[in-house]
Amino acid sequence: MTETPITLTELDRLPEGLLELNSAELISQLEGPTLIHLDGERKQPLFVSVLMHGNEPVGWDAVRLMLSQCLERHGELRLPRAMSLFIGNVRAAAASARHLPDQPDFNRVWPGTDQPPSPTQQLMAEVVARMAQRGIFASIDLHNNTGTNPHYACVNRIDNRYLHLARLFSRTVVYFVRPTGVQSQAMAKLCPAVTLECGRVGDRHGIEHAREFIDACLHLSELPEHALPAQDIDLFHTVARVTIPEQISFGFPPHQAQLVLSPELERFNFRELPAGTAFARVREGGYLEARDEHGRVVTDRYFGTEEGELKLREPAMPSMLTADATVIRQDCLCYLMERYNQHVPARH
Ligand SMILES: [Zn+2]
Repeated sequence: MTETPITLTELDRLPEGLLELNSAELISQLEGPTLIHLDGERKQPLFVSVLMHGNEPVGWDAVRLMLSQCLERHGELRLPRAMSLFIGNVRAAAASARHLPDQPDFNRVWPGTDQPPSPTQQLMAEVVARMAQRGIFASIDLHNNTGTNPHYACVNRIDNRYLHLARLFSRTVVYFVRPTGVQSQAMAKLCPAVTLECGRVGDRHGIEHAREFIDACLHLSELPEHALPAQDIDLFHTVARVTIPEQISFGFPPHQAQLVLSPELERFNFRELPAGTAFARVREGGYLEARDEHGRVVTDRYFGTEEGELKLREPAMPSMLTADATVIRQDCLCYLMERYNQHVPARH
């Protein structure tokens, strides 16, 4: 893939009329990735990134709503804390795509990525460097997902301040270290950072929940260092990422393919599934691939084939299972998780 050059636009005010545009229309005013610094009473900025994935508008919709309400209330933008807004893949948003064919996935190329150097990767490194100079307070990256998932927050570090930030959004929290190159992992080096999964595209509740969360973060004076009561949080740890190898055909019934996925899959999300749960019917050598946090193939540990059915070998809890074939191809089929509550730092 040859990537076209890409440059970061940096602004210190909101362009006139920007809040009126939906994510697909942003391209009419923004040339590409844009970092906008908005002033506020407390000077350490909250960093908010939206549209890392072009087809996930929740972040932009929540920010629009929050800023419009603020403007309406005060007649001007008066924020309790400075906010740096990073609007990511506006070209993909115009096409309602996760990313375009000539682009990498914008949430896989942040510092810490194991992908080869690219112009977009340089741009993300520049954003991190800019925010480091400003003495960032906390970082939020907003996403939609497909399938039936609860709203949840992800952290890349087990640290009380990070868990407090996550808990402010949801009691369901996922800790992961792979995939690499995600925004929250890069920002976790500078400040408490979370990735928020706000449900399906178009879900009003997801937008409202995200708006409330951003607003609450702007009003925080600090993030507590003390431990959370363990019963206040459901912490899960990603143990494997499951993909369908490129050469394997797949589909849902009545479609015939090497892997015929169970139509029940989306309902498995965040459910503790027993060993023996069937994920797919297998034909002509179809298989899945599961890799652990270190990128090692661990398929045989989690999946086995029995009488033509691909089944879980041990109990697991999936997330992000989706019936969207494009998402399965571009990202993955799902993640497998296990409970991690015993790792929540103890109260002293
Ligand atoms: Zn996303």
